[in-house]
Amino acid sequence: MAFKSEYLAKVYASVEKRNPGEAEFLQAVKEVLTSLEPVVAARPDLVKAGVIDRIVEPERFIQFRVSWVDDNGNVQVNRGFRAQFNSAIGPYKGGLRLHPSVCASVIKFLGFEQIFKNSLTGLPMGGGKGGSDFDPKGKSDGEIMRFCQSFMTELCKHIGADTDVPAGDIGVGGREIGFMFGQYKRLRNEFTGVLTGKGLTYGGSLARTEATGYGLCYFTSEMLKCMKNESFKGKTVVISGSGNVAIYATQKATELGGKVVALSDSNGYIYDKNGINLDVVKQIKEVERARISEYAKRVPGSEYHEGCRGIWSIKCDIALPCATQNELNGDEAQMLVKNGVIAVAEGANMPSTPEAVEVFQKNGVMFGPAKAANAGGVATSGLEMSQNSIRYSWTFEEVDKKLNDIMVNIFHSSYDASKKFGSEGDLVMGANIAGFLKVADAMLAQGIAY
Ligand code: NAP
Repeated sequence: MAFKSEYLAKVYASVEKRNPGEAEFLQAVKEVLTSLEPVVAARPDLVKAGVIDRIVEPERFIQFRVSWVDDNGNVQVNRGFRAQFNSAIGPYKGGLRLHPSVCASVIKFLGFEQIFKNSLTGLPMGGGKGGSDFDPKGKSDGEIMRFCQSFMTELCKHIGADTDVPAGDIGVGGREIGFMFGQYKRLRNEFTGVLTGKGLTYGGSLARTEATGYGLCYFTSEMLKCMKNESFKGKTVVISGSGNVAIYATQKATELGGKVVALSDSNGYIYDKNGINLDVVKQIKEVERARISEYAKRVPGSEYHEGCRGIWSIKCDIALPCATQNELNGDEAQMLVKNGVIAVAEGANMPSTPEAVEVFQKNGVMFGPAKAANAGGVATSGLEMSQNSIRYSWTFEEVDKKLNDIMVNIFHSSYDASKKFGSEGDLVMGANIAGFLKVADAMLAQGIAY
């Protein structure tokens, strides 16, 4: 993918030089810069002010040691990160990921994406992301608590309700947010909305747990309706992953009339031709924290297959990748197209490789990119921040309605930008441009620090 603009080629070359070997970060930057070709032509003022040169460099990148003691009394050492990428339109905002694959490249890619996603929500939130290479799998509650407390002991020096507000992501749900919030409060002696995704008894928002999955389906519905006069009704849906995003996407897709027939984890996938029984999934994943293979042992007529990537060979109308980055490649996209897929929307961050995105777009498949389609989680985190600030709680229905409105708006601002900049229906380009322009104008207004 060569750049037409010499300026963008130069910016990308410098990102490559500064971040050698950081494959995920470079992939995310390349995608956004490619989308900005028509903006560079139309807005020389942004080029002159070095906005694109600046936006690809995090304002601050923090790396720290996290040491903790396991149940056997052994000292363990992990690495913690926080990328404070851009604060032009609000305090840094973005989740914390606990997974062994976490490294500087992964955190930078997620933090960079978050700038544009948060901008698209229309709420005043800058972009950030953090996490650690700690693996929560198989750890006791005590180990999780000690890790989270140690992690927050350092992180608390860098965050705050008006500075940087982390949330959950892979491996970080309500339990982990609770331990981290408790430690922040202990160390700082203040009760503020410094984290989102909190429990409902201490400042959390109703519908935050459901928000990313629900929001993904609201976005997909609007895309189906406006681009092809279609809906979820009667459609077969395949969803990868079986974590927070996948579970609530399954719930909403089913409520909207779709039949979800498959889910996965990193070991394999389940296929249930009768439609996934979500109560069983919730019991296995949310209560027992067990593997998805359990489902096939409990639900007659369902099947378990080893190897998570096989999920894309299942015939479906709508595919919602909700597990992790680069989980769907060009060959798998070809398979989905051959099997008649009409729409793909990303619940996970950057789950489709660039080759997969190209296959979908060349074959006329409606494609909703992550930064637009999965923005419902952070949007509802923004609503949690608002409720914390006014010390008030909205009802589930109020939050859900605002979420729906935000997702519908995100579809339209992405679609409208794609049209305005000459690629009608290319939501990758549209979301990147719409998200970028708001942040770029704010950066322009705020001047340059020499
Ligand atoms: P989660 O609750 O930790 O669940 C992640 C799920 O994905 C688990 O079932 C995990 O299985 C599975 N998984 C991981 N790698 C996989 C692979 N290679 N193939 C198949 N399944 C795999 O995390 P989550 O919050 O749902 O996040 C999922 C994705 O959504 C991430 O990309 C995240 O950045 C994105 N996202 C989340 C939110 C949010 O509000 N939570 C918001 C926006 C975007 P194992 O148990 O085997 O690891």
